[in-house]
Amino acid sequence: MISQTRDIVQKSLDALLEDGSFLPEVKGETRKKAFTSLTSILSTPNHVHKSYLRIPLEDEKVVRIPAFRVQHNNALGPYKGGIRFHETVNEEEVVNLASLMTLKNALHDVPFGGGKGGIILNPREYSEKELHLIARKYVQYFSDVLGPDKDIPAPDMGSGEREMDWMMAEYKSIRPGMPYRGSFTGKSVVNGGSLGRREATGKGVFFTFRYLVHDFVRDQKSLLTKTDNVFAKTALDFEDRALTIAVQGFGNVGSVAALEAHQSTHLQNKVVAVSDRNVTLFNSDGLDIPALVEFTMKNKGDLPTGEEQLKEIGVNAEIRDRDEVLFLDVDVLMLAALEDQVHKDNVEKVKARIIVEGANAPITTEADTYLSDQGVIIIPDILANAGGVIVSYFEWLQGRETQFYTEEEVFNLLYDKMKATLDTVLPLFFGDPFPLRQNCYIHSVMKLSTVLYRQGKLY
Ligand code: NAD
Repeated sequence: MISQTRDIVQKSLDALLEDGSFLPEVKGETRKKAFTSLTSILSTPNHVHKSYLRIPLEDEKVVRIPAFRVQHNNALGPYKGGIRFHETVNEEEVVNLASLMTLKNALHDVPFGGGKGGIILNPREYSEKELHLIARKYVQYFSDVLGPDKDIPAPDMGSGEREMDWMMAEYKSIRPGMPYRGSFTGKSVVNGGSLGRREATGKGVFFTFRYLVHDFVRDQKSLLTKTDNVFAKTALDFEDRALTIAVQGFGNVGSVAALEAHQSTHLQNKVVAVSDRNVTLFNSDGLDIPALVEFTMKNKGDLPTGEEQLKEIGVNAEIRDRDEVLFLDVDVLMLAALEDQVHKDNVEKVKARIIVEGANAPITTEADTYLSDQGVIIIPDILANAGGVIVSYFEWLQGRETQFYTEEEVFNLLYDKMKATLDTVLPLFFGDPFPLRQNCYIHSVMKLSTVLYRQGKLY
């Protein structure tokens, strides 16, 4: 677990240890011992599986590609988490992402534990045939520890429904006669995927922001105006006015969140900047997001990088450096690319007053503390980007039924679930001095602690 997650889990456990109303039946030395067990259970993964996938390439060279499956905790249900295809994957990162999944599922009452996978490669450097073989080998190497009631992978950066279809098919061949539809989520709809899964994370990211800034602030105005909580003041500043939004990352998560923001015209939001691995595009009057989405779909996911390309699709935008998106004078910054994007060396240049974490861990601990001290509201990853795993849960359920939900049903179920979580954590957030991240962690840790205690695991 990286230090940020570990520190916040520990702070949450310390607060709960002191809070006599939490698990009141556990007292004195037994209580101390139980909390020591909790620290060790939550700060270490149950299993770290590592293999070297042996792949014959099309040029006849044979390579061995390192791959991981980390199973952090399954107190709440089967392990669940994506498989990342990226050259920066490493064991520590996969462990940390798996622990975030445990906390995320606990926060949103999804009956899954936390897992994560990773393959160290740049998928752009491999042919489709080679990627197919890599996906199949991953399943062959890890099939003993995967399965619909053991550990259910999903897509992550660099993987998508194509890879999940391949992996499910391989699982089916390796385990003939076993139920296989629930072995992977994020599959294509024809292969048992859920309608709406691809858009779920981005839609959820926008929903958490919209719900906090519009619905919650309007409904709870009397509570917010009475408190001297610094974050309440920030939230009230955002009420009923047109907001400018910048989005870092224009993939699965960022492009959908940007499109949602663009389409919510009744909120008068303007998406003035988007970025990807190459560029930032900026227009103070608002960007034509649908045209940019269409362009990326035809260009391997990349945004236009030159005037010619912008002209061809009729988009009016300034081309700026890739990282400029982080420092623009906007109201809201949505981070939907990678980890550690805002850190101690650049945090002072960030001007947004609300930051939404579509990516996992995009803000380092030091930067997080600095921003929170300034009253910046950070909607944390485990709260904001859970749409994917929530709809994965619906996909897993539908794999066990014969009836599939319509897209509208999927999104209504998603919003109901996220709204229930927001209604639990937001009043606490505006009622005490902790940042929202800490409130979310306390809620997750409370749930996990209670479950582990009742399962007799805290000895
Ligand atoms: P993706 O591969 O579809 O898109 C990633 C985007 O980030 C691309 O536009 C890429 O060009 C851009 N990017 C890469 N490096 C960048 C850089 N240095 N600066 C700016 N942009 C950069 O991935 P995704 O599925 O959209 O995931 C994005 C993040 O969200 C990841 O952290 C992932 O773990 C997290 N996440 C994804 C899901 C999901 O359902 N897809 C769910 C939860 C969390």
